[in-house]
Amino acid sequence: MPEITGKTPLFGLIGHPVRHSISPTLHNAWFRHHGIDGMYAALPTREPAGDILTALTTLGVSGVNVTVPLKRDMLPLVDALDEDATLTGAINTLVRDGRDWVGHNTDVAGFSAALAELGVDPHGARVAVLGAGGAALGVAAALLRAGAEGVVLYNRDEAKAHRLAARLGGAVCGGPLTTLGFSALTPDLVVNALPGAARERVRALPIDHLPQTTAWVDLNYWDPEPPHLQTLRARGHRVQTGHLMLLHQAALAFARFTGVSPAIEVGRALLPRQSAAMVTEPAGM
Ligand code: NAP
Repeated sequence: MPEITGKTPLFGLIGHPVRHSISPTLHNAWFRHHGIDGMYAALPTREPAGDILTALTTLGVSGVNVTVPLKRDMLPLVDALDEDATLTGAINTLVRDGRDWVGHNTDVAGFSAALAELGVDPHGARVAVLGAGGAALGVAAALLRAGAEGVVLYNRDEAKAHRLAARLGGAVCGGPLTTLGFSALTPDLVVNALPGAARERVRALPIDHLPQTTAWVDLNYWDPEPPHLQTLRARGHRVQTGHLMLLHQAALAFARFTGVSPAIEVGRALLPRQSAAMVTEPAGM
């Protein structure tokens, strides 16, 4: 591991809140493991996106991950975008390239990699995505690309779900986040892409009618007891917490920062124990 010096490139995570994040742990472990000169810090900020970008430029920061509430706000400010940032209208990684800032979205490919670990083939799948925020859009984009038969974005504000679905086109449509609608669904996969504020809405959704073949992913890695996950797992469903998407999107961001694809297993070993225990297979397997 190179010693940290005055020349060490600085990376970080911007947004609010970020102090709880395990991204610094992951990225710094990968810098050490691969012997790359770099350091990564949590950089909490509530300032406007333009002011933050100016500060990052002035301070010579080499790259950052971007989280709530900045993922959309950064989009019009950067000099170039990758395909998935353009598709979703959200940035989760900013990389300095000479004088330019390039915006990437690694959530899309990160979700696909996590889903592969769950053994879910999205090709031909019918998927219910809870939410119509940035995370839901990234998930829907990944599923579409993988050939999902149909993706429905269920949202409190149904009109917004329809608008976002229209943006992605293809097999994506919108629907209302109601218990009534959900009780008629038998999707191959449910993805909870709603934030913590909507936890009780998710808990209120009926699940008894779901066939055992329905897999369930909850993106809220910070939630020690994601709604329905333990129950579904005990009933033999495949379930996954958001830690694996977090791990894979971080690895893809690290590759954008450094040009090196990091060792996934080094990162996996650092995930909180309770998430490692939240297996990606049904109980008893
Ligand atoms: P966001 O853009 O703020 O999400 C907004 C969505 O949440 C909208 O659909 C909004 O509905 C809905 N919502 C907010 N409060 C609600 C409530 N009380 N009841 C019902 N719906 C409510 O957030 P995001 O960026 O999509 O992130 C969503 C979650 O995914 C976060 O908790 C984040 O931590 C997690 N995430 C995880 C990963 C990972 O790597 N595992 C990656 C990205 C995000 P309206 O449109 O009706 O307002």
